[in-house]
Amino acid sequence: MELSTTFQSDAQVLEAPVATKITIARGDGIGPEIMEATLRILQAAGAQLELEEIEVGEQVYLSGNTSGISKEAWQSLIRNKIFLKAPITTPQGGGYKSLNVTMRKTLGLYANIRPCVSLHPFIATRHPKMDVVIVRENEEDLYAGIEHQQTDEVVQCLKLISRPGCERIIRYAFEYARQYGRRKVSCFTKDNIMKQTDGLFHRIFDKIASEYPDIRNEHLIVDIGAARLADAPELFDVVVMPNLYGDILSDVAAQITGSVGLAGSANIGESCAMFEAIHGSAPSIAGKNEANPSGLLQAACMLLSHIGQTEVAQRVQNAWLRTLEEGIHTADIYKEGVSRQRVGTQAFAQAVIERLGQQPAHIRAVQYAAGTFQLPPYTPQLPAKKELLGVDVFVHEHSRDPEQLGRRLQALNTQGLRLSMITNRGVKVWPEGFEQTFCTDHWRCRFEGTEGKPVEKTQLLALLGKALELEIDVIKTENLYSFNGKRAYSLGQGQ
Ligand code: NAD
Repeated sequence: MELSTTFQSDAQVLEAPVATKITIARGDGIGPEIMEATLRILQAAGAQLELEEIEVGEQVYLSGNTSGISKEAWQSLIRNKIFLKAPITTPQGGGYKSLNVTMRKTLGLYANIRPCVSLHPFIATRHPKMDVVIVRENEEDLYAGIEHQQTDEVVQCLKLISRPGCERIIRYAFEYARQYGRRKVSCFTKDNIMKQTDGLFHRIFDKIASEYPDIRNEHLIVDIGAARLADAPELFDVVVMPNLYGDILSDVAAQITGSVGLAGSANIGESCAMFEAIHGSAPSIAGKNEANPSGLLQAACMLLSHIGQTEVAQRVQNAWLRTLEEGIHTADIYKEGVSRQRVGTQAFAQAVIERLGQQPAHIRAVQYAAGTFQLPPYTPQLPAKKELLGVDVFVHEHSRDPEQLGRRLQALNTQGLRLSMITNRGVKVWPEGFEQTFCTDHWRCRFEGTEGKPVEKTQLLALLGKALELEIDVIKTENLYSFNGKRAYSLGQGQ
């Protein structure tokens, strides 16, 4: 179903010359009612939007489309480029793919932005001064979902981090900080362990941070960073992270503001962007006029700001804050002693509409900077001098005896290439391993050029040919390189 509606607002505040065409989806569960409430507020506030509606989610899945979205809906998204999405229900079982992950990847939505702010004392929280924006990389990392079973006992998920991916998200975080008047960008990684992948993210963070002397920067190892974020979030301002850490910590951050139900998020790409509440479709309260529309309304404000209708976004945001301050609360946040009036979804929307033009009295009013920012295009580096130094040969072997495996594999040694180490789950077990080390059936066998000399690919092929002859079960190989003379692979634990 596709319907097109143009808001004909009689509000005086914003006179945008042309309405921006956006795609919307009313979603499942509470989706339609919170979308209705949100659209009413936007209309009353004077948003200049032309709406094109698509259907995504449960009905599309159940019609046999495992992606949850039709071809026509894709066309609408690609045409309009801006998407306001209500939550959807993913049916259990049946191999349905997550629509959110599909959309992020297909539309190149590389940045996930989630502002997490406390509204103390109106919303109960242990962190009254919290005002953090999580900027999460959205396309790479373990989320690339490249997984394989390699042996009877071991499965693998590849963690991919790219230079352009890091540059884009980190620059986005600094530009965002500058635009929204934020003073510090923190970066969380685990580069003390993952020196290549998280190491790249950290190095690029340091490089880009130096281009923004007006904004403070810091790097924290993700474990202590997460602990401090949960304990003293007021220490943080903007936090940028690779995908998986960002996924987990953005939920933690939203939760500790006092209510996940109040947060919206933006998924931003070079040409497209998608805005949504962070909560789900809450089927148990669907159709009861009980749901809080605030998460989707927050997402809508981010959308308006993104398309340059910042004054309307600000107007809506301030009226929303004023409504919450006055204790007009939906059931999920209603609290005796703090709240004044318990209202349903549509009455809450009406209360916000009635406060359009007002400022909050206690919470700081929102002031968006005008305009959006454009990131510079990625400039590839000059190719480095790359030398092949050896190969890691991964072997499936049931015997748990590293000494015996070492002897078998030494038969593959040639004049220029020799077995230097065997690890099991990353721990060196040959030569001179510890008998206490627990071993699985998955072995990484490292062959390196003798005296550190470079090797040829033909030598690797000869080695693999010989392994085949000796019935060694090679499951995969990973070449060992140096880039500009610097070793570009990890040592074994204990090497
Ligand atoms: P949920 O967020 O829908 O609900 C969790 C709890 O919060 C429930 O008690 C619910 O009643 C309450 N809640 C959520 N939003 C609320 C609101 N606006 N107002 C008042 N109360 C609210 O999470 P869930 O129960 O784990 O998931 C339900 C469905 O939503 C599942 O099918 C899931 O796949 C889907 N989901 C969709 C999205 C999305 O579309 N982006 C995100 C998360 C979950």
